Amino acid sequence: MEPEPTYVILMGPPASGKGTQAERLQELLDLPHVASGDLFRYNLKNETELGRRAKVYMDKGELVPDDVTIAMVLDRLSQADANKGALLDGFPRTVVQAEALDDALAEKGNGIDLVLNIRVSEEELIARVTGRRLCRQCGASYHVKFNPPKEPGVCDKCGGELYQRDDDTEEVARKRLDVYEAQTKPLVEYYEEEGLLIHIDGEKSIDEVTTALREAIENNL
Ligand code: ADP
Ligand code: ADP
Ligand code: ZN
Repeated sequence: MEPEPTYVILMGPPASGKGTQAERLQELLDLPHVASGDLFRYNLKNETELGRRAKVYMDKGELVPDDVTIAMVLDRLSQADANKGALLDGFPRTVVQAEALDDALAEKGNGIDLVLNIRVSEEELIARVTGRRLCRQCGASYHVKFNPPKEPGVCDKCGGELYQRDDDTEEVARKRLDVYEAQTKPLVEYYEEEGLLIHIDGEKSIDEVTTALREAIENNL
């Protein structure tokens, strides 16, 4: 018989380090990294209809409507490599999305195993967001000061070109933080009530945060 699939959610405000940590935890967990923001950016790059619809919201720092987002992520979770589960990053971001995910997993007798909530103060988030650089090719996340690549503008992992996201300006980031407070914060309580949530201090160094996440996973999964 196939083992039960495992679903772990990485939660946290914009630029709290979800993507950076997900890359490092993928191996430990042996699960695909499913990031809704990456899926939208992939669609943008390939100029799909979904990408065009999402761009309007992303540029403003608003959430893409739930129906579009839920359909995209559930489709990703139905692909073969996700039959053992997934490490979710940036999804769910609203209570409606969380309920849709619970329902879809429950239909197959599955459920969320663990939610890791990365906490970082607002001023630190702004410093992280404005210095962030991403690899065009593999999506790896860098920071000009806090996590610079060996060669400026070039990805250590694949040699791809680094770029700055259009929405990583201070202005759009502040809007994204407001949206986080209003629409995503309520999920902390949602998962706390289900007894699934663990808080992680995300203000420490990248290595220290990885260690804390690894311990939480090893003790609770
Ligand atoms: P998210 O996926 O939550 O939006 P990222 O993983 O892309 O966040 O990280 C946001 C930015 O902050 C990146 O530039 C990344 O290099 C940097 N960063 C991530 N974790 C830390 C940390 N613990 N300390 C300092 N900078 C960090
Ligand atoms: P960050 O790394 O800063 O947390 P993401 O890359 O996860 O940002 O998301 C970028 C943008 O993509 C969001 O501002 C939003 O417009 C859209 N997006 C990503 N995930 C979701 C989601 N679960 N629901 C709605 N919109 C989303
Ligand atoms: Zn790369």
